[in-house]
Amino acid sequence: MGKLDVKILRYLTPEDFRVLTAIEMGMKNHELVPALLATQIANLRYGGVHKLLKEMCKHKLLSYERGKRYDGYRLTNAGYDYLALKVLTQRGTIRSFGNQIGVGKESNIYIVANEEETPLCLKLHRLGRTCFRNIKGKRDYHQHRHSASWLYLSRISATREFAYMKALLDRGFPVPKPIDFNRHCVVMELVEGGPLCNINEVDDVEALYDELMDLIVRLANHGVIHGDFNEFNIMIKDDGKPVIIDFPQMVSTEHENAEAYFERDVNCIRDFFKRRFGYESELYPTFRDISREDSIDAEVKASGFARQIQKEINTFLTENGIDYKEEKDNIDNEDSEDSEEETYESCVDNIEDLKCQLKDLQLQNEIVVKKEFNALTR
Ligand code: ADP
Ligand code: MG
Repeated sequence: MGKLDVKILRYLTPEDFRVLTAIEMGMKNHELVPALLATQIANLRYGGVHKLLKEMCKHKLLSYERGKRYDGYRLTNAGYDYLALKVLTQRGTIRSFGNQIGVGKESNIYIVANEEETPLCLKLHRLGRTCFRNIKGKRDYHQHRHSASWLYLSRISATREFAYMKALLDRGFPVPKPIDFNRHCVVMELVEGGPLCNINEVDDVEALYDELMDLIVRLANHGVIHGDFNEFNIMIKDDGKPVIIDFPQMVSTEHENAEAYFERDVNCIRDFFKRRFGYESELYPTFRDISREDSIDAEVKASGFARQIQKEINTFLTENGIDYKEEKDNIDNEDSEDSEEETYESCVDNIEDLKCQLKDLQLQNEIVVKKEFNALTR
């Protein structure tokens, strides 16, 4: 994947974006979007669209591929990036782009600036490449689903991160202020400082240890477990105070494996403090110490994952060639009786959840994409 060439944003015309958005919309239910379908969605002349499609393939915003039954176009990572960046730019959330400051397993991080030239952090979520790892078997439909799902999964990951950050900030947790999001992109406050993994010395090791353990407990009292609470996801500000980042994988304290997730977070901190600072303490929190006082888990859940859409999801999956029953048989430990929490919590490693995400995003897509589509092409 190449570097983000944002200059290209300026050269793309409203028609280009109309066609790009048409491909995005077509990908909701087509593996590859034929030129004719793109033309219909974009509502432009076929000859013109054809030329634009070719042009955008040259710029690697789209790729043209031969399928089993028909040929067509699909959005590339870059194409998806530009759609989101165009919207964020248009809204005035971001104005200029700076350097890439991080490459995670599932994200790229850039410094950007708003119209007041305040530096901000832009996180582009990149999911989908690994999400089928836990599904047994390599059937054709996995492969088939694979290529379009990265778009939906990256989008839900960003949405989820934004929702958690907002809920946490509202409750006074030290997290970057979430500013805006679109598709797979989240814009947030830039934390001045560096990740804990780069810190070799602190003034008061014990105080920092206590503060981090206290955060783990406070999160749990609010119904959530970070799930990846380690030295890479804790930033230390210039004043020595910690800021927590990286939230897409957060789980509810009601999750069946909550205790294990909780202990893992605690142990990450214990291990790191031992390794880095030679600090060990008899005192560390256990899952029994938590006393629930709030429900961030339910709040975020209510913002998009409802059980009544299950039926629609099944229809959607059937239409998209996923055999739900067969998929389900392939997954270990699936408990259909109590699948609501599962559905929401296990993020991308089970099909039940994938269904929710796909549907949720499909609904969002309907509304958001249509609105943007009209705004961009007017
Ligand atoms: P991933 O899910 O890929 O791990 P993270 O959210 O953890 O993504 O971000 C990756 C890295 O980018 C972090 O370790 C940190 O160095 C940097 N980073 C992320 N968010 C911010 C931020 N708001 N301010 C400053 N740096 C950040
Ligand atoms: Mg991280």
